[in-house]
Amino acid sequence: MKVLITREIPRAGIDLLRKHAELELDYRKGAPLSDSELKKAIKDADAVISVIPDQITREVLQSAKNLKIVSNYAVGYDNIDVKAATEMKIYVSNTPGDLTESVAEHAMALMLTVGRKIVAADRFVREGKYKYWDPMIFLGPVFSGKTLGLVGFGRIGQWFAKLAKGAFNMRILYTDISKNESAEKEFGAIYVSMDELLEQSDIVSLHVPLLPSTKHLITRREIKKMKPAAILINTSRGPIIDEDDLCVALRENWISGAGIDVYEQEPKIYAGLKELKNIVLTPHIGSATHEARIEMARMAAANVIEVLINKKPPISLVK
Ligand code: NAD
Repeated sequence: MKVLITREIPRAGIDLLRKHAELELDYRKGAPLSDSELKKAIKDADAVISVIPDQITREVLQSAKNLKIVSNYAVGYDNIDVKAATEMKIYVSNTPGDLTESVAEHAMALMLTVGRKIVAADRFVREGKYKYWDPMIFLGPVFSGKTLGLVGFGRIGQWFAKLAKGAFNMRILYTDISKNESAEKEFGAIYVSMDELLEQSDIVSLHVPLLPSTKHLITRREIKKMKPAAILINTSRGPIIDEDDLCVALRENWISGAGIDVYEQEPKIYAGLKELKNIVLTPHIGSATHEARIEMARMAAANVIEVLINKKPPISLVK
């Protein structure tokens, strides 16, 4: 049985697959496959371990003759046509859980980096501009006691709440499609409407999946409601923010800054954003810790083994 692995992933996952002699690995380690390369490579595959840039469309799935599982090396699965896969009786799985702490830590790192102007300050020093101590440069907010507004209060949102509460005793507001009373008790979090969250938070951080209902959840209307000193963080998915509107808002200082890990047209970055000084941009590295990536590789491989070897549904089935 052939397993296509579209990109290089940590060895732990490959080692798990290699324990099964029945599995023949087609392990690609280069640049992302183009649409036509993907269709060709997937043709006789029984399983594919895909990554975020792989667009597993209905057409790609139709070109696969033996495919039984698309094991996505990510929590989000908006790169896969899950409806088409389900109709074709192909399982889809993801790697939830193992990267929760890493993504929440990255959201916090962005919050601190934007607020304390770390990137601009680093550049200032490197450019030889640090001539004398100046009481008035690079001023930012103290985070202790401030309000963190979490849009989406699932695994990553809750972990960020835990970090912010523990480290900075922040007040936690959240909005979600469902209320979570046990998490409210644990973090002293308060459930509010989206508008209340935008109006009251000093930091707004996005942790919802990309769905038709969350596309452009944040437009100029929502940014206008935020405090002028507020910071917007997005480690979720790019299309949740209207980048055109974000660009206008930052250029005109409607809010103080933004920390962005994900983009509407990844890996393209909206041209205007790169010109702005009040934004910190990272290349979708929310889960980029050694620990998270090793566990993601193990989980992606385990999902394939569960289907091809154990003839069961994957451990983390996406429906
Ligand atoms: P999760 O499923 O545990 O939490 C998502 C939360 O969003 C849930 O509580 C859900 O009820 C809520 N939600 C769904 N639709 C909503 C809506 N319309 N309005 C308000 N709330 C809504 O997921 P998670 O593990 O916390 O991950 C969240 C997202 O983070 C993923 O979907 C993925 O896109 C993104 N992510 C990014 C990276 C990265 O590297 N930057 C890594 C992992 C995950």
